[in-house]
Amino acid sequence: MRSEVGSPSPQAITRPRRRYFRLWEELAVLTAHRGLCIYCLASSEVKDHVIPFARGGDDALHNLAPACDDCNDSKNDRTPLEFAAFRLSPGVWGRHGHPGSGQLVDEFDRFRRSYPVWMERIEITQIELLNRQRREWFRNDVSSTYFSSWPQPTIRVKAAIYRHFYGSHVAAAEKAGWPTESSAPFRILRPRDWHARSERPSDWVRL
Ligand SMILES: [Zn+2]
Repeated sequence: MRSEVGSPSPQAITRPRRRYFRLWEELAVLTAHRGLCIYCLASSEVKDHVIPFARGGDDALHNLAPACDDCNDSKNDRTPLEFAAFRLSPGVWGRHGHPGSGQLVDEFDRFRRSYPVWMERIEITQIELLNRQRREWFRNDVSSTYFSSWPQPTIRVKAAIYRHFYGSHVAAAEKAGWPTESSAPFRILRPRDWHARSERPSDWVRL
């Protein structure tokens, strides 16, 4: 169903290499849009590539948006428009593009109303992610946070732990317009039990 018409073949373009994200970038994306999935408004869990990497999108922050696991999985390498058509009108646009069980007019109407809402959320989130002061705030704040365990948790787990302990701290900074002058105190987070390798934020403590 996903047509390649109109997009250059992946081999034809020189692509930047995929890169590793830093924790502050992970957090800057996950907490954007009030920490909610831009597609369904559930709590965000992952970074979604708005324009998928496979379709020419890159790893720049403003091509990323907070999403829940479910939406991220089912969006796969669809563009937002394709995902909207797929997600909002699954009854009509069946697997091979044939009409399915829905009423075409009803489903199209629903799609036409919902798509601009998604686009607006994406745009607002892009503007948020392009805010230099916001980015600096995250870079500065996260650099003073130390995870005391070996092996180190994955970036995804670190982000969940940070949000668990500092969610209200982030909200306060947002309210204050991402103050640049405040320097974050050095902070240590460690597993409740030194030997534990738990990936649940509630099994971690602040020192
Ligand atoms: Zn979602």
